[in-house]
Amino acid sequence: MAAEARNQGVAPHLVAKIIASYVSHHNLTPDQIPELITSVHRSIQGLGGAAEQPETLIPAVSVRRSVQRDAVTCLDCGWRGKMLRRHLTTQHGLSGDEYLKRWNLPGDHPLTAPSYSAQRSTLAKELGLGRGNRNNKPARGRRPRASVD
Ligand SMILES: [Zn+2]
Repeated sequence: MAAEARNQGVAPHLVAKIIASYVSHHNLTPDQIPELITSVHRSIQGLGGAAEQPETLIPAVSVRRSVQRDAVTCLDCGWRGKMLRRHLTTQHGLSGDEYLKRWNLPGDHPLTAPSYSAQRSTLAKELGLGRGNRNNKPARGRRPRASVD
């Protein structure tokens, strides 16, 4: 994590208090104290860094606005398109699930524009992909291709 580079955010008096309490209960040589200070400081910093991280996430658009009929928007960078999944993988190295977790989104949050997924499922049915039944033979007499727009 990148939190190590940051040196602010740790209250010196808090470190001093912990050190004082520790020193009064343990027998330390003076040269052990700097090491103790560093380790206490680092521990506090580690706690702060872990807790702060989710709060620094600011979505490019609001979650509600990120899903529109014809497009979905990436909360990370504001990218807009019909399908978010591929964008997430190539641009952010995230899977759909990781993205949902990252932004605290429900499992049914759409990553594909609603109009686009509707279009695709209609297409799949037309191609016969949605068929799970052997007895469902294509009707011979009908000509489903008659109406092409
Ligand atoms: Zn993005």
